[in-house]
Amino acid sequence: MAEDTIFHKIIRREIPAEVVYEDDDLIAFRDIMPQAPVHVLFVPKETVATLNDLPADRPEIIGRLAVAAARYAKEQGFAEDGYRIVMNCNRHAGQTVFQLHLHLLAGAQLGRFGTPV
Ligand code: AMP
Repeated sequence: MAEDTIFHKIIRREIPAEVVYEDDDLIAFRDIMPQAPVHVLFVPKETVATLNDLPADRPEIIGRLAVAAARYAKEQGFAEDGYRIVMNCNRHAGQTVFQLHLHLLAGAQLGRFGTPV
C-alpha cells in the first residue's frame, strides 16, 4: 500500500523516531544510519512517493521541507558553516524509502558527491 512506508509509520507514531520538528505539513527526525554528524530527514505528511510524483501545481510541498531545514540549521547554529540537502529519486540515486524526503547533512566538512559507483 502506497501509504505504508516506514516514514508513514513514523508519522503515525507506530514506530519510534527521534523527532526534532513537526507541524501540520511535515515531520523531521534523525536518520537511523547517519552519514554526517547531523543527519535529519524532512518528510511531508502528504503521500508523494518520489520527486517524479510531485504534482506540478504543488511545489510548496518541497518548499516547506527546504524552509524547515534552513530554519533548523539556523536554530542549531550550523547554518553559517553550511550544510547539504539531498533528495534521492529512484534506483540510480539509491532511494530506499518511497515517501519523498529531504536529507539535511551537516556538522563537518562534507565530501564531494555524484560520482558513479
Ligand atoms: P533514501 O536512500 O534517500 O531513500 O533515504 C532513506 C533514509 O532513511 C536512509 O538514510 C535510512 O538510513 C533512513 N531510515 C530508514 N529507516 C529509518 C528509520 N526507521 N528511522 C530513521 N531513518 C530511517
